[in-house]
This record gives sequence, C-alpha cells and structure tokens, in this order.
Amino acid sequence: MLKYLSLIAAAVMAPASALAQSANSIEAIPITIVIHGGAGALAPGRYTPEEEAAFQAKLAEALDAGYAILEGGGSSLDAISAAIVLMEDSPLFNAGKGAVFTRDGKNELDASIMDGATRNAGAVAGVTRIKNPIKLAREVMENSRHVMFAGEGAEKFAKERGLETAKPKYFFTNHRWRAYKEALAKEKSRDESALPHDFKYGTVGALALDANGNLAAGTSTGGMTLKRYGRVGDAPIIGAGTFADNNSCAVSSTGWGEYFMRLTIARDICAQVEYAGKTVDDAADDVIHNRLQNLGGDGGVIVLGPNGDYAMTFNSAGMFRGVKNASENWVAIYGE
Ligand code: ASP
Repeated sequence: MLKYLSLIAAAVMAPASALAQSANSIEAIPITIVIHGGAGALAPGRYTPEEEAAFQAKLAEALDAGYAILEGGGSSLDAISAAIVLMEDSPLFNAGKGAVFTRDGKNELDASIMDGATRNAGAVAGVTRIKNPIKLAREVMENSRHVMFAGEGAEKFAKERGLETAKPKYFFTNHRWRAYKEALAKEKSRDESALPHDFKYGTVGALALDANGNLAAGTSTGGMTLKRYGRVGDAPIIGAGTFADNNSCAVSSTGWGEYFMRLTIARDICAQVEYAGKTVDDAADDVIHNRLQNLGGDGGVIVLGPNGDYAMTFNSAGMFRGVKNASENWVAIYGE
C-alpha cells in the first residue's frame, strides 16, 4: 500500500521519466513462492494415484495461498507463513498434524523462520502442544529478544503470547503410528533397511520473494521417526535448515538433519551465492551433490534468489515440491 501511495506522490512530484523508471523497477520484481513437502525415498509407485493427487492438491493449495498474499502486495513472511500453516494442518505432511513419532511414541516438533530483509530469525525446538510451530517461530522472531526457544520454555512463551495450543493427541495419525511400529520392529530385529534416513518424509518448507524485493524462508517438521528424547534436527537451526538474506538467497532444507547441521547447508548455499557469485542452481548443486553426498547424507533444498531464480535440488529419489510465479505454476513428487 505504502508503495502505491509513494508512487502517487511520485506522479505528482516527479518528471514522467522518473515515474516510469520507478514503476518499472517495481514491475521488475518477479514475485515468487517455492515450497517443499519433504524429500526421501519417493520412487514412482510408492503412492497410489489417489494419494499422489491428494499430495499434489495440498501442495497446490499452499502455493495458491502464499501467492495470493504476494499478488495482493503482502510480505514474503506472510506468504510463507500461510503456505506452511496449510501444510502443518494437513495430516499428509510430517509437520504439525501428521508429524512422525519419536522413539517414545511422542510428537516433538521443530520450526524456524527468517526474514531476508533484516536477517531476523526465530525458531522453536521440541514443542509438543503448539498447533502451528511456524507461528510460534515467527512470534519468537518478532516478539522476543531471542532467536530460539526449546521445549517447556517455548511452550511457556507460546502461552504468554496467546498462541493456539493443541492436545498432544491432535498430532496423531494412523499412518505415522503404523510407520513408527514398523520402524520399532525393524530396529529390534536389527534389520539393516531400518536406517534412519528411511524414516522421514514430509518436512515442509516455503520461500517467497515479495513485491518489495524481500526474501523469507521457513521450515517446519516432526523430525525423524524413532528420534531419541530431546533430539533436535536441522529444521530449527538457522543456517542449516533455514536461511534468508536479501543479498544472497533464501533456503529451506529437508533430509537427514544431522548431515544438514554438520554442513550448515542453508548458509553454505547462500555463502556460495554471495562470496563466489554462483547462481542459486550451481550453489545448491555443489552443496547437495558434492558436499552432502560425499559425507553420506541425503535430502534436498529449495532455494530462491532476489531476482526470482530458484532451485529445487535433491539427492534422494524424490521431493514433494512446487513453485508459483507469473509464468510457472506446478507441483511434483518424484525425480526427473
Ligand atoms: N530434516 C528433518 C530432520 O532431520 C527431517 C526431514 O526433513 O525429513 O529433523
């Protein structure tokens, strides 16, 4: 709104050429939203056509919700929050309702958010009663002096701020409970196919570029099935699971969190863009296909630059993902 008011002011006060230039520079920002719904062993045939359609519809709904905000002149932070809340509320994804179970049969949720304009950030780890952890992460960013709250303290802060809570059983879904029981049985029988990287699907993340040229990134997850008490993954770690800086790029990660933390994946991608002048595609390619791959990790990232260039890069079989901008609007599940 302010932008249009200042445009009107410019029309009154500035010569026509200056106005045209300022209008052009606004037009030139290619508003974009990019999302993911988790990476993993997603080979064709894993889901029935009905299940695929349900995932695709929810991803498209999240893109539409975020893009509508951007089109209306809203901020990238509002756009990613709206998209992530929709996916947290859906039982399909491993975030909010539908989160995976810890080894003790509980749901412990992690989330983070970052504002590329200010590099303010907020994160929460191991919360069990917050309906939308991404909203709490944003609350931490905007209304506390800290960047991260964990466990009890995070829940206390949520209560103080009046955030919507939920009973732990709200997060329960039959399909995650079955997966938990199967994983537990495999672990007990020392079945090698029960490696931790098979135990995660459906972390969610979103990136947006708004009409003011501001980037934002957010990530929300239930973590990995069978994770031990108090385990925190990469999703709430700024620089590993989430990063945004208008000078380089915005990133949201999904995959085997321990590797993403050790490699500070999100920050490394943006550092390569900022210091080495790489494109978002080349930077993501190096970090996922060289560094992550060589260390033995797996997963993927979405990346968005201040010029609207984006990348969706993964070394797992697939990654739920989608993008919407002026010329593209699509979602996908499997690899090429
Ligand atoms: N990165 C998440 C974690 O390790 C899991 C995932 O993305 O699937 O907690």
